[in-house]
Amino acid sequence: MTDKITRLNASQSDFDSALAKLLAWDDSVDHQVNESVRHILHEVKTRGDAAVMEFTEKFDRLKVSSMAELEISQDRLQAALEKIPQDQREGLEKAAERIRDYHERQNQQSWQYEDEDGTVLGQKVTPLDRAGLYVPGGKAAYPSSVLMNAIPAKVAGVSQLIMVVPTPDGVVNDMVLAAAAIAGVDRVFALGGAQAVGALAYGTETVPAVDKIVGPGNIFVATAKREVFGVVGIDMIAGPSEILVICDGNTDPDWIAMDLFSQAEHDEQAQSILVSPDGDFLDAVEASINKLLPTMEREDMIRTSMTSRGALIQVADLKEAAEVSNRVAPEHLELSVEDPQAMLDDIRHAGAIFMGRHTAEALGDYCAGPNHVLPTSGTARFSSPLGVYDFQKRSSLIGFSPEGADRMGRVASVLARGEGLTAHARSAEYRIKD
Ligand code: NAD
Repeated sequence: MTDKITRLNASQSDFDSALAKLLAWDDSVDHQVNESVRHILHEVKTRGDAAVMEFTEKFDRLKVSSMAELEISQDRLQAALEKIPQDQREGLEKAAERIRDYHERQNQQSWQYEDEDGTVLGQKVTPLDRAGLYVPGGKAAYPSSVLMNAIPAKVAGVSQLIMVVPTPDGVVNDMVLAAAAIAGVDRVFALGGAQAVGALAYGTETVPAVDKIVGPGNIFVATAKREVFGVVGIDMIAGPSEILVICDGNTDPDWIAMDLFSQAEHDEQAQSILVSPDGDFLDAVEASINKLLPTMEREDMIRTSMTSRGALIQVADLKEAAEVSNRVAPEHLELSVEDPQAMLDDIRHAGAIFMGRHTAEALGDYCAGPNHVLPTSGTARFSSPLGVYDFQKRSSLIGFSPEGADRMGRVASVLARGEGLTAHARSAEYRIKD
């Protein structure tokens, strides 16, 4: 490689600042993206379909004369399912089955209990009415993201699924459409970027407004989701992909190099980091990176990502490796070590944890079963993988018996009068027995 991949050592005096710099976004890029996304959202909100069509022409080079041309019919989805090769169809169906099995275990049930005086308390779980599924499609097509977005929504019982997926230059990916047919998506629009997020959030003449927007995307999509939060719900900030591999030095360096590439090939802004206590092993992986890079179809993208945001970090031991990983809070964490279970207690922040040398992160992207829509940019400190729970909400249930209203009315009255809220107090007192 002409540019070298960053090499850090946790014992160097400026390690904290070097790591912080590696993880930080370029502020100037952030500022430009914010400006551009705000402009796009404002235009979509005020001008609806017309603005959506203009931005689709500008960013996806797809010119249409009416929004109807950007809707992909159910017949077209079915035709794609029948058209794709048999092995691809079977692969999608197998992946869908495993994703469904896994997510069914997340389904929450409503519950109630009764106090001694007959008062009923509980929680009622209800699905969203309408969910917006963002399926990325700028630099690669993601049929797997269709399944990962739609299946948990279906398991949760969402009534209507509206999917958006960009089709740059009008090129439609049949596997993406076939996956939408398998997952039972209700409506599909060939839209992407901030304009698609805006259309789902505000609604246009053609695209219905949804209650929540979920799914991964590039920096424009992630920024747009952050901007529309409050008008609609969002799942998380699932931006450019990341992988952090902790290796004890005993895995084949080619395997590790390819695992790092597997995320770098998503995006120039993807981040791939290797942490190991074994300096010779870091050298060996760097040699593998240099050897394998020219064999990659997406060589340029991987090179840019690895040299601008990637790093090889030497640590004293696996305990320190876990500490570094917790500071990164990566989207994907591979524990390529002898005893991954023994390391789990030390790992606090990661979107998904891949345990053991034989667990390539790539399997999690497609067919392991758990969701591949995961928190990025350190947000695994406070958010979780996309799941059935993202498509469900909870209402509290409170039903006082006359005895309960008497008993707790006295407590409420004291507290309300303490707050100076007389109507609250009297409302409770009316129900107290004489
Ligand atoms: P995308 O669909 O996210 O973005 C494409 C859209 O970006 C285009 O339709 C266009 O509207 C918009 N865009 C591009 N350049 C623009 C510009 N200069 N100004 C305004 N808008 C612009 O597809 P992508 O680009 O291929 O990115 C997919 C992303 O999703 C990657 O970063 C990948 O790493 C990530 N990903 C994340 C996960 C996860 O779970 N976190 C899973 C899969 C993919």
